[in-house]
Amino acid sequence: SAEIIDGKKIAQTMRAQLKDRINQLEDITPGLAVILIGDNQASKTYVSMKQKACEDLGIYSKLVKLPDTVKESELLDIIQELNEDQLIHGILVQLPLPAHISETSVIEAIYPSKDVDGFHPINIGRLQAGGEAFYPCTPNGIMKMLEFQEIDPAGKHAVVVGRSNIVGKPMGQLLLGKSATVTYCHSKTADLKTHTAQADILIAAAGIRNLITADHIKSGAVVIDVGMNRDEEGKLCGDVDYDQCRLKASAITPVPGGVGPMTITMLLFNTVESAERFSR
Ligand code: NAD
Repeated sequence: SAEIIDGKKIAQTMRAQLKDRINQLEDITPGLAVILIGDNQASKTYVSMKQKACEDLGIYSKLVKLPDTVKESELLDIIQELNEDQLIHGILVQLPLPAHISETSVIEAIYPSKDVDGFHPINIGRLQAGGEAFYPCTPNGIMKMLEFQEIDPAGKHAVVVGRSNIVGKPMGQLLLGKSATVTYCHSKTADLKTHTAQADILIAAAGIRNLITADHIKSGAVVIDVGMNRDEEGKLCGDVDYDQCRLKASAITPVPGGVGPMTITMLLFNTVESAERFSR
């Protein structure tokens, strides 16, 4: 039966390390600005989780709440003010945006040096080409988990299910950067199982409950479940049939308590890194 990768515990360890780094910063408190637009309940929940995580660590967090009628030009002006604000080292615009606002324009308005989500094209480019960059939080959190578990991707076959800009695509790039052989699968992939069954490291990020069953995985595989879905009773569950797969995998992440806690931790991590860069 598989080793359970305890994302909550790894996240706690990392947050303690971050606290030390914050304490070592002289004359500077890391600051994160979070822009929340409209009334989306999930967005509000994520934002308050992020703010609380900042407070717990001693990161200054500034919430900018805007109505969903806000004009794109107004939003861009606010971003520009935050770009120039010395107290702010990270800027995050909670997605999704109202339909009349261009996500691309908003993301590209944030200075790459403050883009702690790692969504700006400059940071995406640097992720691929190398160089100092912010990496997207969810896939980078998974890389940290693998590191903590002493799972070295080098030479392993990593199969990523999902190709979104925030999870799947950067996940494959990060694994490639650590010398894994990477296969991407997505909604148009023919015969998913033939690919996933070859994975030494399987990353499931499709957002479909029970997409990955025991016959999708190789015996001894490392299985990372990014999915956040709800079952009939409204309980949080991933993309992986956990009860089946844990008997066959060598290591597996649970949902909840796996990838989730790492994501916000990496946002804190990027904000602290940013403050360190500004203080140099
Ligand atoms: P998305 O909807 O943008 O992308 C889903 C991807 O899955 C797409 O690239 C699509 O091609 C692929 N896909 C869809 N059906 C498929 C199928 N049958 N076979 C193979 N591939 C298929 O979603 P996302 O933003 O990348 O998020 C994916 C999941 O991860 C969601 O459940 C989301 O809630 C969750 N998520 C969790 C965290 C976390 O911190 N735990 C963070 C971000 C996203």
